[in-house]
Amino acid sequence: MSVSYPSLPPLAGLEPARLDWLSDDTGEHAPHSTQFDDVYFSRHDGRAETEHVFLAGNDLPRRLAAWRERRPFTIGETGFGTGLNMLCAWACFDAHAPAGARLHLVSTERYPLTRDDLARALAAWPDLARRAERLVSQWPEPVAGVHRLWLDERVTLDLHFGDATKRLALLEGQVDAWFLDGFAPAKNPEMWQNELFAAMAARSRPGATFATFTCAGVVKRGLAAAGFAWRKVPGFGRKREMLAGEIAAPPADTRRGQTPWFTPPAPRPPRRVAVIGAGIAGASTAAALARRGIEVTLIDRLDRAELGATHLQGALYVKLAVETNLQSRAYLAGLLHSRRWLAQLDPDQSLWRPSGVLQLALDEKERQRQARFLANHSLPESVVRGLDAEAASRAAGIRLEAPALDYPDAAWVRPLELCVRLAQTPGVSFRRGEVTALHGDAAGWSLTLADGERIDADQVVIAAAGEAARFAQTAALPLQPVRGQVSQLALPEGAPALGRVVCAGGYVPPPADGVLNFGATFAPGDTDRAEREADHAANLAELERGLPHFVAALREAGAALAPERLTGRVGVRAASPDKSPYAGPVPDAEAWREDYAVLAKDATRIPDAPGRHHAGLWISAAHGSRGMASAPLCAELIASRMCDEPLPLEWPLVDHLHPGRRVVRDIVRGG
Ligand code: SAM
Repeated sequence: MSVSYPSLPPLAGLEPARLDWLSDDTGEHAPHSTQFDDVYFSRHDGRAETEHVFLAGNDLPRRLAAWRERRPFTIGETGFGTGLNMLCAWACFDAHAPAGARLHLVSTERYPLTRDDLARALAAWPDLARRAERLVSQWPEPVAGVHRLWLDERVTLDLHFGDATKRLALLEGQVDAWFLDGFAPAKNPEMWQNELFAAMAARSRPGATFATFTCAGVVKRGLAAAGFAWRKVPGFGRKREMLAGEIAAPPADTRRGQTPWFTPPAPRPPRRVAVIGAGIAGASTAAALARRGIEVTLIDRLDRAELGATHLQGALYVKLAVETNLQSRAYLAGLLHSRRWLAQLDPDQSLWRPSGVLQLALDEKERQRQARFLANHSLPESVVRGLDAEAASRAAGIRLEAPALDYPDAAWVRPLELCVRLAQTPGVSFRRGEVTALHGDAAGWSLTLADGERIDADQVVIAAAGEAARFAQTAALPLQPVRGQVSQLALPEGAPALGRVVCAGGYVPPPADGVLNFGATFAPGDTDRAEREADHAANLAELERGLPHFVAALREAGAALAPERLTGRVGVRAASPDKSPYAGPVPDAEAWREDYAVLAKDATRIPDAPGRHHAGLWISAAHGSRGMASAPLCAELIASRMCDEPLPLEWPLVDHLHPGRRVVRDIVRGG
């Protein structure tokens, strides 16, 4: 069975917007695109134009004032540019929407401005300064994909970098009002095509509106062909007319015709959710749900707040494949997401440091792999770049013998303290306990705890790593436990520093609080949590292999580099057979075996039956040792799906992470 997804762009940096700054009639400088020979806005009356064309054109003041839904009001836009339209929409929301309402902004951009140009352009609007600052401070790297920004407690912005038509075709989400912007059709004919209007129609809620500054025939015809009713309304200033309208009956979503099992369950936004497992997967999910006003009970056998100073450090980094695949895309998205998320969560950097990560190429095979990776991709150097041994040594502040891939923006994190912080999010209550069984019915879920107590919730998220296998509903999802032991060394005075996290077989973060962490071992199938001297010895050998000069300097400083003198921490992670996380609704595996049985005989006979799920049950698991990169994005994915919001990943990636993927694969293979 082969499923063909719309082609995803290569993992590459995007061409930035090329601007010059023209004086307008007031003598002020306004951004002008040299690519399109058109202006982004007029400094004189750009704001008034936005308010007239896009806000009034979509009747936003009235609609936002009347918004009572639990899901956010969603605006989609075709050319983000300087963000003026979206910042004005946010201001309009604040002025009109009732307390408790939320706003979700989705905008595409093929040529993102540089951060400096963005800041300069938005400086034209002093009364938007606070909002502009939120945008500029989170402005993403120019990498094709979805970038989620948190504008404030109630307002989220998803920037879909890439061509508008292609990005909307990849969007998993529905829009209430469209800002059809972009340079004028005569200047940018490539964008104003029928495919764009069709993609907008396919991502519209019934009754979704649109507004645009242009009245060009190609736009009227394209909108009508896609199912939008349009009318001419008075334009702004000297422009006599513009277009506004709506789509009463958007076309049905047919994307999952070949993969009906991935059809998402009908949304039922919950009020109370129980999250099982307070590690990074569970704690980040709890925080993501609480931010949406949901009451969360976070349950774990272990109270991490009681562990005290563990000095444990984890690495936020990923290993990307030479040939781009869905897994690499998901991990790269996760890395960029976590980096932005950490900066928002903890601007003071008490829980993390953006130290950068070096991935050493210690042998010829890895050297070749890295060279091929660099030849295949053209990601911005701020995301990943190749360094020879000398440049890598400079970055690390210690002599290295090997070249490396450098992820300058990657980081190290204090994982336990981070989980404690997330568990303290207002709206999350932590409950120590061991969940032994789950029971779901039409009214919701009931959790049985080992001490006999019961907890009721509308919906449940299982985020308990390998222990997901103990629940009847998730037992069919293959999960392999992987034991990992990290070694810890108390450093003497004068011990050498390290400027980057250095990874080869394991990882070594820059020492913090006088402690060096290094490891971890990797033992699939092993669930033993006892510390082992042999594992310390293995970690030491690995440290010596990757960082011989660092180890020599440690010895010289008098560090106790002997297995029996080290302390450590053991974790048991979980991995899926394909090494991607499970994030999404829990399939009813028995129902799938029934509904899709025919696939075992003939994988081309796709039954016309949407996947049946355990209603209101979700899982975030199988993050392996890359949970810092994958779990926060999976948390957003699950919370967004639960609350009927646009998702922070392209739909082929959403399906790639679907927990049912192995179930259907096993059915096809006759398992
Ligand atoms: N809405 C913007 C604002 O508030 O500043 C102004 C939009 S500006 C007039 C047009 C934008 O559309 C530019 O940023 C341009 O790079 C972008 N654009 C042009 N063609 C595009 C395409 N095919 N896909 C996505 N964005 C495109």
